Amino acid sequence: MLMAGRDDMFDVVVVGAGPVGLSFAASLAHSELKVAVVEQQSLERLANPAFDGREIALTNASIRIFRELGVWDAIPDSDKSPLRGARVLNGSSPFALRFDPPGGSGDTLGVLVPNFRIRDSLFKIIRSQNHAQLLCGHSVVDATNCHKGAVMTLSDGRQLSTRLLVAADSRFSATRDLLGVGADINRLGKSMLICRVKHERVHHQIAVEWFDHHQTIAMLPLTEGVSSLLVTLRAKEADRLLALDDDLFLLELTNRCRGRLGKMSLASTRHIYPLVTTWAHAFWAPSVALIGDAAIGMHPVTAHGFNIGLSGQKQLAHKILTACRDRRDIADPEMLHKYDSWLRLSAAPLYHATNILVGLYSGEHPAARLARHVGLRFAQYLPFVRHGISAMLKR
Ligand SMILES: Cc1cc2nc3c(=O)[nH]c(=O)nc-3n(C[C@H](O)[C@H](O)[C@H](O)COP(=O)(O)OP(=O)(O)OC[C@H]3O[C@@H](n4cnc5c(N)ncnc54)[C@H](O)[C@@H]3O)c2cc1C
Repeated sequence: MLMAGRDDMFDVVVVGAGPVGLSFAASLAHSELKVAVVEQQSLERLANPAFDGREIALTNASIRIFRELGVWDAIPDSDKSPLRGARVLNGSSPFALRFDPPGGSGDTLGVLVPNFRIRDSLFKIIRSQNHAQLLCGHSVVDATNCHKGAVMTLSDGRQLSTRLLVAADSRFSATRDLLGVGADINRLGKSMLICRVKHERVHHQIAVEWFDHHQTIAMLPLTEGVSSLLVTLRAKEADRLLALDDDLFLLELTNRCRGRLGKMSLASTRHIYPLVTTWAHAFWAPSVALIGDAAIGMHPVTAHGFNIGLSGQKQLAHKILTACRDRRDIADPEMLHKYDSWLRLSAAPLYHATNILVGLYSGEHPAARLARHVGLRFAQYLPFVRHGISAMLKR
């Protein structure tokens, strides 16, 4: 293993300053560990994240973690949209499967916050804590690991050595590949097109997931008269829509929504996300841990990717802080293995249930349509199914 200079030796190096990587760095802020965060984007871009279309539905558990990290109060109230319920619709059927907060009408299933605002608030916290060194504008181009530590090379040739390397560099994690950790990567051939719209009808802070023929439309309630529209289509079809001018785009969107929101106008830029799910074969390796999408890249339909990543980083940080307190190794293989098992057990049911749901709801065969029609009715009359899902959303 190559030796790095003293300035380039760390206890923990996090690769990726996305929302999970930054949350993890913030979780270690009160330790004596020497922490660095490597990010390929420039400091300027990280400090001023642009609107990216994503509205993250934070569960109550995630909000609690954000409170502990001081992030929640850093997010302006005007960017927090409560989610008071959700409805699932199938084709043109008037029937709706309802998800309401288990605690009653004053309660919420969670809160929607724009992703760029989460990134912005986390960045401000990291800067104000002044604990983790931010190494921006460089990507990791090589990485090796052994039981004693890990060494990585950045795109400017600089080498960093660390006791623990934490990969948080997205579902396409280059670090994961460089370290030879495999992953199941499923490219679904569909893309999600997202934009905000202003509309006539009142949304009552209720989200709608509408599985229609050859398209799925989610309507997420933001401020009064404004929703985020997420249209899932075959990749080619989504590209075609993205290329339309504003007037034609709005016309097609209005037709596709069949008047559900009344008259609409565009209220943001448009964004497209090719749908890919990933599951790393291991969430740890000697002197290495995987967090966030680098470990598990969920389908966005159940809105849980970030929530899982946030609880996963908390688990890992807690184990590391406990090891520090007890003067034990922060990259102890047994500890990393326990983190792996915890994440596997807590995320697997939701990951697989989401993939089954996606398969069932994107099938166009008449048998699949019948199955979802029957499935929705069946779920409505089994309160434990609905309440179970509401409780899961509310966790
Ligand atoms: C349309 C959409 C809607 C979603 N809605 C929800 C929702 O409602 N609720 C929810 O919980 N989740 C949701 N998600 C999922 C959520 O956005 C992700 O789980 C979350 O962004 C993962 O954060 P991350 O920090 O792990 O990775 P990312 O956000 O992908 O960040 C990775 C970071 O690593 C950097 N990076 C990459 N490669 C390198 C490299 N080689 N070297 C250095 N840096 C590198 C990138 O620049 C980036 O800053 C949604 C996702 C999508 C696509």
